Amino acid sequence: MKVLVLNSGSSSIKYQLFRTADWEAIAFGLVARIGEPKGELKLNWREQDGPLQSRQDALPIPTHEAGIDHIVAGLRTSGALAGFSELAAIGHRVVHGGEHFQRPTIVDDRVVEAIREVVPLAPLHNPGHLSGIEVARRLFPTVPSVAVFDTAFHQSMPPTAYRYAIPEHLYTQHRVRRYGFHGTSHLYVAKRAAAFLGKELAGCNLITLHLGNGASATAIRAGRSLDTSMGLTPLEGLVMGTRCGDIDPALHFFLSTNLGLDTAALDDLFNRRSGLLGICGVNDMREIERLAAAGDERAKLAIGITTHRLKKYIGAFYAELGKVDAIVFTGGIGENSAGIRRGACQGLERLGIRLDEAANAARGQSGERCISTTQSEVGVLVIPTNEELEIARQALAAVGR
Ligand code: ADP
Repeated sequence: MKVLVLNSGSSSIKYQLFRTADWEAIAFGLVARIGEPKGELKLNWREQDGPLQSRQDALPIPTHEAGIDHIVAGLRTSGALAGFSELAAIGHRVVHGGEHFQRPTIVDDRVVEAIREVVPLAPLHNPGHLSGIEVARRLFPTVPSVAVFDTAFHQSMPPTAYRYAIPEHLYTQHRVRRYGFHGTSHLYVAKRAAAFLGKELAGCNLITLHLGNGASATAIRAGRSLDTSMGLTPLEGLVMGTRCGDIDPALHFFLSTNLGLDTAALDDLFNRRSGLLGICGVNDMREIERLAAAGDERAKLAIGITTHRLKKYIGAFYAELGKVDAIVFTGGIGENSAGIRRGACQGLERLGIRLDEAANAARGQSGERCISTTQSEVGVLVIPTNEELEIARQALAAVGR
């Protein structure tokens, strides 16, 4: 059997097709620029353990329906998918599930309505997900669609972690609270970390750091999310590529009073023009590290603020957890940047965190690895994330296969 994973955004759809026997991704690709004059179509597939093959086309893709039609046609002509009967489930990534969903859920009309209800909380994401879900249900009426939510893993947070210190009615009437995101990634690396440590997930306390263009930290107690750095939206917390993370909320009044910025301008400023980009003019960590190595002071400051904030969260989550088995780095930056990992862990020896400098800096390493010394009480691990695989597995489990 096979599971198709769709990550449907407002103007693009990423997809992966997994063979459930060995969880190999036998095809993956992207449909982009939906609705623009020139759309983009990418398909990669592998025939019977042969080499990876690729195909790329440029043609107009007016709607999500046309996009998914192209995906299916590509999968069929490449031989990756013989027919719909091979599909056990379609797993859909959904960023925001509000308080409705604590686990992956088979989509029916009620689920669609619940995802629609929280559109105001994720206006950039949930409408695109809904388009993908609705088209998939129409095109494959016999294949169950399963929604897998970025927020679900964090639904175990207690109110002390998820409530803001603002008037109660904002929570009771408007559901203003902290939700947390990247849950699928945090859960995936937590499971892998537990296996790496030779323990049950339920027996592990972890601090997981997902550091990509978006970034978040999660405190995991006994395998469940206890606290996380993102809040009502994915803007709170760590320094990100273009997002500011934690700021004084009074900055909003300051900027609107003194610079006349309205809500759209503030949204653009904090979500798209801040973070690493705001500090040093570049949002790609590879480029920032290159500039810093060449002596660029703004690039050095961007790295400094990033690691300072990371350290703050490690300290805060350590205090919440009391005891930590391992700190886990993942995401493009967490998996690849030895400098950021070193900066985040430096000076924490009294907390039992001892980085093995050589293992951390070793070049050409990929895959799951330990980068702490044998004396380190707290393990420091690098675990590549694989959200699509986690979605595929959860989708299959949800349909009881
Ligand atoms: P997304 O959140 O978009 O999925 P990724 O997880 O792919 O993003 O992470 C993207 C970030 O990872 C970028 O800032 C990129 O520069 C950084 N990155 C990727 N490879 C390296 C590397 N070798 N060294 C440092 N940073 C890297």
